[in-house]
Amino acid sequence: MLKDGYTLMHEHIFIDLSGVKKLDDCRLDCKDETIEEFKELYKNGVRNITEVTNIGMGRDINYIREVSKKSGINVICATGFYKEPFYPEFVYEKNEKALSEIMKKEILEGIDETGTKAGIIGEIGSSKDKITETELKVFKSAIITHLETGIPITTHTSLGTMGHEQVKLFKEYKVNLDKIVIGHVDLSGNTEYILKMLYDGVYVEFDTIGKNNYLLDDIRVEMLKEIEKRELIDRVFLSMDITRKSNMKYSGGIGYNYIFEVFLPKLREAGIKESSIEKMLKTNPENFYK
Ligand SMILES: [Zn+2]
Repeated sequence: MLKDGYTLMHEHIFIDLSGVKKLDDCRLDCKDETIEEFKELYKNGVRNITEVTNIGMGRDINYIREVSKKSGINVICATGFYKEPFYPEFVYEKNEKALSEIMKKEILEGIDETGTKAGIIGEIGSSKDKITETELKVFKSAIITHLETGIPITTHTSLGTMGHEQVKLFKEYKVNLDKIVIGHVDLSGNTEYILKMLYDGVYVEFDTIGKNNYLLDDIRVEMLKEIEKRELIDRVFLSMDITRKSNMKYSGGIGYNYIFEVFLPKLREAGIKESSIEKMLKTNPENFYK
């Protein structure tokens, strides 16, 4: 399923949260500029992107396909529902089973008549410091879908919170934790908190790299050093979660290539092993999708 090369595990190519957020910047719709940045990603060795935009986030498969085709980067598309308040109205009306049927159709038959099948369930999210009743229902529908299809699940935590509760839920349903990644854990800024999930056996994502206004990259580097020391780096993914026009290079943002231009040099400078970088960007995603 993956092409031989690096994989960024939590990105958006087209996403539109501008309605709920009432901010035009949250409509990432700069296709030409995205293609340019993706060609650069290709030069940096990236061959796969996990695109975690799902139903209710403005997912646009034809847009994604064009970017993929013009850049040469393989894209894994997602199914599922994000979190409150971004759910389509029907999420409140349908039960777990019915929501799971929608996801299953996208996995087995394809998304929106495009023929493109979803390769991952996510990003399935919880709110800050709580999992609301409807979010819990969506998590359960994602679990049902996973148990029936074997497709992996990627989650969203709000500022890193509720990660332990998410893991607990997956364990309750006896989900194979080799197929679960907990997202945005770096934003917790708390190494012990992340280690607990790693010892439980899930994958975790440092997927907000470069968002220094939320958390300094220097802290991400320190946390990764500790995880490397504990020999748990084979359960970590790296990504940037670009979601806004202002995140893009053309508008003065850091751009999708920041990870290669700035962050990896920081890791090397801090003494993180080359083999660990290879694992986080290549081997670990390969094992996850096996
Ligand atoms: Zn997210």
